[in-house]
Amino acid sequence: KRPQELTLAQYVDGILAGDITILSRAVTLIESSLPKHQELAQQIILKCLPHSGSSVRLGITGVPGAGKSTFIEALGLHLIEKGAKLAVLAIDPSSERSKGSILGDKTRMESLSSTPNAYIRPSPSAGSLGGVARKTRETIILCEAAGYNTIFIETVGVGQSETAVHSMVDFFLLILIAGAGDELQGIKRGIMEMADGIAVNKADGQNIQKAQLAKTQYSNALHLFPPTRSGWIPRVETCSSILSEGISNIWDMVEEYMHKTKSNDFFNQNRREQAQYWMYESINEKLKNNFYHNALIKNKIAEIEPLVNSGQISSFEAARELLELYNKQV
Ligand code: GDP
Repeated sequence: KRPQELTLAQYVDGILAGDITILSRAVTLIESSLPKHQELAQQIILKCLPHSGSSVRLGITGVPGAGKSTFIEALGLHLIEKGAKLAVLAIDPSSERSKGSILGDKTRMESLSSTPNAYIRPSPSAGSLGGVARKTRETIILCEAAGYNTIFIETVGVGQSETAVHSMVDFFLLILIAGAGDELQGIKRGIMEMADGIAVNKADGQNIQKAQLAKTQYSNALHLFPPTRSGWIPRVETCSSILSEGISNIWDMVEEYMHKTKSNDFFNQNRREQAQYWMYESINEKLKNNFYHNALIKNKIAEIEPLVNSGQISSFEAARELLELYNKQV
């Protein structure tokens, strides 16, 4: 049976009281494509906004198999033990294309998901990366209003989703593993450049020395990048997520960063810039959506696309005609 509909006030009161069921239902509204749901979601977000913002937002990326979920579980349990309330969100680009999710399967983070002070929400699955990212960004606000003071945003280090995550977090952590002499392969320079810190994971057993060597190599590589605007010098640490070793060092690094950027005001400046960035992203997304979901435009596209394909009309002319048609209606 379907749950009873809640009023705006019931949603907001429930979220502010930290009610996980109501929080989850509100996130479902954010993820819904029904205009009615979206409208209600926006009202909830607006009411929650004054109660948001006071968390640490940590972005976590790394290639599949680097140990992200194991690391999140280790760090998450460590922080919860210290009294944190943790929300783990994700941006998973795979779910767009293949419907199969790299990050979403249920067996991940088992002990964390059964911990009362942890809230784990898989990636929104429908829509463009921009849409998925916006939903996650909005979910952060609700989680913070619900009292979560630590937010992890996880993404797979394979595409553009890192940029989206980077633009919604305070600290961006890259999880790497030591390879056989080819430490720097497979990680795009741009992603390393975004990182505020690197964790060389799986530093255990036979792997300890290799991990130490990788740490030195990555540190050297980081020194080649221009200084960051935050005044923070990115650091590399080794850890073992399975053994929960070195995990607290990584959190110490995040705290040091927070301290530094709060005292030089980069922290606030960065959050303001991120808010601005998301305003423009939301506008772009909304405009695009409105355009492509417009019935007349859909028909016109069906008509004009074959003409572009066969070279009867230039792509620019086609775009101009479509936009003109759209502008006449709005
Ligand atoms: P993800 O795809 O990045 O989320 O990676 P997972 O957390 O699923 O880990 C991939 C594999 O690496 C699993 O078999 C883990 O047990 C293993 N793994 C993760 N962390 C460590 C670690 O610190 N040491 C070792 N030896 N294995 C690890």
